[in-house]
Amino acid sequence: MKKLLISILFLYNSGLAFAQSVKEEKLPPPSATEDWSVKPPLVTPGESYPQPPSDAILLYSGTGDAAKWEHPNGSPVKWQSDGDALTIVPKATDIRTKQKFGNIQLHLEWRTPDPSEDKDFNRGNSGVLIMGLYELQIYESWNYNSRIYYNGQAGSVYKQHAPLVNAARKPQTWQTYDVIFEAPIFRADKTLEKPAYMTVFHNNVLILNHVELKGPMVYQGYPKYQYHDAKLPLQLQEHGSRVSFRNIWVREL
Ligand code: MG
Repeated sequence: MKKLLISILFLYNSGLAFAQSVKEEKLPPPSATEDWSVKPPLVTPGESYPQPPSDAILLYSGTGDAAKWEHPNGSPVKWQSDGDALTIVPKATDIRTKQKFGNIQLHLEWRTPDPSEDKDFNRGNSGVLIMGLYELQIYESWNYNSRIYYNGQAGSVYKQHAPLVNAARKPQTWQTYDVIFEAPIFRADKTLEKPAYMTVFHNNVLILNHVELKGPMVYQGYPKYQYHDAKLPLQLQEHGSRVSFRNIWVREL
């Protein structure tokens, strides 16, 4: 009996120690997940801006479509919406669609501002957060002087995958992303059955070929999946730079 009590006490104590060590787990520095290994070669894209096909769900084609978006706290969009462009207002927070999506084909066009108005390491910084979680980075990457780790430049899955090549256009020029996104699948017990995958064309050039996502975007530490709904809003990131968007549409797959 005494032996049993001692082993129960031992188990209890080691359980406590484990809980303590989980609590005190230190995140690695943000630099731990920066990839500087292979510089994506430059490719000059062709010129074309496709129009949406007949079955596309238009998410932004002009001022009236701002009503299809909201800030994460549910308030109406405070970004500048004029003509066919929607421009970030710094500190106004991200925006997300009212409609929720799972597997999609996504097209959007984006334009970074005059680089002189942004700070170093934040040149044209924005991002497409698919399902509000999985970030396809937007960044001024035409000029290599705006140095950032390769898995943080335009066309990266932020801090997970660098693009195969750098197909960026000049700042203040419209650029396109065409994305095929496969949402992750979770089992009934909420564990991961199948991770998310992403294929991306930047200015019509393939830059990510069915890459496996390691989990939602994290700036610090390593990504890991957590159960979430099968459909979630599409989100555009506000990161202090006045990036513009236009011609945003999706097709549900
Ligand atoms: Mg970003």
